[in-house]
Amino acid sequence: MNEKPALSNLAAIDAAHHLHPFSDMKELNARGTRVIERGEGVFIYDTSGKRYLDAFAGLWCVNVGYGRKSIAEAAYRQMQDLPYYNTFFGTTTPPATLLAQKIASHAGERLKRVFFTNSGSEATDTWFRMARVYWKALGKTEKTQVIARRNGYHGSTVAGASLGGMKLMHEQGNLPIEGIHHIGQPYWYAEGGDLSPAEFGLKVAGELEAKIDELGEDRVAAFVAEPIQGAGGVIIPPETYWPEIARICKARNVLLVVDEVICGFGRLGAWFGHQYYGVEPDLAPIAKGLSSGYLPIGGVLVSDRVADVMVDELGDFYHGFTYSGHPVSAAAALENIRIIEEEGLVARVRDDIGPYFAAAWKSLEDHEVVGQAESVGLIGGLQLAADKATRRRYRKPDDIGTLVRNHCVENGLIMRATGDRMLASPALTISRSEIDEVIGKLRNALDHLRDTVE
Ligand code: PLP
Repeated sequence: MNEKPALSNLAAIDAAHHLHPFSDMKELNARGTRVIERGEGVFIYDTSGKRYLDAFAGLWCVNVGYGRKSIAEAAYRQMQDLPYYNTFFGTTTPPATLLAQKIASHAGERLKRVFFTNSGSEATDTWFRMARVYWKALGKTEKTQVIARRNGYHGSTVAGASLGGMKLMHEQGNLPIEGIHHIGQPYWYAEGGDLSPAEFGLKVAGELEAKIDELGEDRVAAFVAEPIQGAGGVIIPPETYWPEIARICKARNVLLVVDEVICGFGRLGAWFGHQYYGVEPDLAPIAKGLSSGYLPIGGVLVSDRVADVMVDELGDFYHGFTYSGHPVSAAAALENIRIIEEEGLVARVRDDIGPYFAAAWKSLEDHEVVGQAESVGLIGGLQLAADKATRRRYRKPDDIGTLVRNHCVENGLIMRATGDRMLASPALTISRSEIDEVIGKLRNALDHLRDTVE
């Protein structure tokens, strides 16, 4: 075994050699990188030994918590048997095939097949190509346009960043690419005006129908959305939204793509977000909770509607990744799903810890700076507000969220901020007392905001 390298000067080495995703490197190098060394349950520890309660499960992904030896052992065993083989050209490996079966067993009647990738972004590129290939195979060569939402997030590849509705991402690299269109998001607090949430849900879903009309039904291949918009700020749609979206896609013969990268594998108290909202996607990208982040793996769940055409009409699908269905990642994912099943984590989120979290999270609405605290299962979005009564927002939303987040981190709580929204997405194994710790520390940070900003 290799000796562990000295950790004392890692921050300096990092500043010299490591470019980080989604980071202002100048600012990061000046501040010094936080070096996380180990994790156990919902806690992570940095190289100074400081403990943090990770209320974000890494990046919405460590669903079974840190430190699961059995996942490490499953990966180790698989590495000894067969560290790598591919799934191209008529081959597979036992874990890749068994994992596809296992995922399908939880995904419902019409989603029986899986195409593997290494990440959510690759899953996005995969369904994007599949949607176009599907319509082409049916002779509808004009059906190529894809509709997505402002403030959505679907990854960082060129197609992913284009489908996402993040202005700052679009500005870097002349995005979106051709053939992608954006409609509004179901963000009632900020954009609902005088409408009730239910009215607003229908109105914003109606933008899909209007966009299909504008582009022409015969040109639109697919619509994509996250069940709950994650990176956009945990935007939980009004309950009228999803049924109307599903109705429109069906009526207009447009493929419905539900991005399950965050919501899949139990986060909403259902195996998948589309089950929680009662809609049936034609394609559904997955990643993150599939392996709880222990190893990189993603995929696309493919409905019979699309898969039957791909199998019967298409011939070769000229698409794939060297590591599609990587056997070690697949073995880790299989063990991860076994844990979710054995510990009943999906039901735990639905019936026990989710309702506890919901009540604790909601209790924050009594705070002066909180406009709204919403959650589903173990995902929560907290709207900060300068004036609760009028839903008036702070003048510099990004600074406000960052202020609260930094206070949390200093006090040993990992939270994320998107603008003036605080986001939580802890491991599905989090205990009641750990939730109490999250709420207590977040409340202190909210007090700090109240006491420092007008
Ligand atoms: N889709 C959604 C909804 C996501 O939240 C993310 C990542 O956060 C992605 C896709 C991209 O996944 P990855 O970072 O694994 O490429």
